[in-house]
Amino acid sequence: MSNYYPFINTPLPYAYDALEPYIDEKTMHLHHDRHLQTYIDNLNKLLEENPSLQQFSLEELLTRWCRLPQHLQVSVRNNAGGVFNHRFYFDSMKKPGSPCQASRLFGEMSLQFKSPEDFKSQFKEAALSVFGSGYAWLVSHGGRLKIITTANQNTSPLNSMTPLLTIDVWEHAYYLKHYNVRAAYIDDWFHVINWEVVEERFLVSLGL
Ligand code: MN
Repeated sequence: MSNYYPFINTPLPYAYDALEPYIDEKTMHLHHDRHLQTYIDNLNKLLEENPSLQQFSLEELLTRWCRLPQHLQVSVRNNAGGVFNHRFYFDSMKKPGSPCQASRLFGEMSLQFKSPEDFKSQFKEAALSVFGSGYAWLVSHGGRLKIITTANQNTSPLNSMTPLLTIDVWEHAYYLKHYNVRAAYIDDWFHVINWEVVEERFLVSLGL
């Protein structure tokens, strides 16, 4: 059960070099094997020291953190958030090139953002607006699509919205290949989105 303590770093759902040439192999190694691993190790240590939290799933920790004793709140939010956000980000990508099937989602995007292309430019603008570390998200809020951003390892509000897609815009996600040019990383990242997975999440949010 990778969703409960002790958490394990599940392998990427594709090879480390699968996202080339858009996201490089070395970045994926460092990002998954070191950055995500550190959040997993820290979360396990925190739960080892606080056994009463071990009954909660990753998502439960993230919907309950603000009701936990104050001295635990920030560590739970940061470390459980770091695990959730990274897994969600990695699971939202796939090897580029295959045709994408996400007709229901793209239809909804056309209604709410004018077109999938307009969605892209609004999403890019949001991802560029994150100051320092954080994420941009596409979420479903009762079936309505929304673009939101979060700082650091905060998670999109899981009790009121269903996350559909996210991009990590912390520099470690792109610095080796794109240096300081976040916009180029975002443009490349659009090529490796796993739209089938995003569509599935959207359908679940509609209760389908
Ligand atoms: Mn990251």
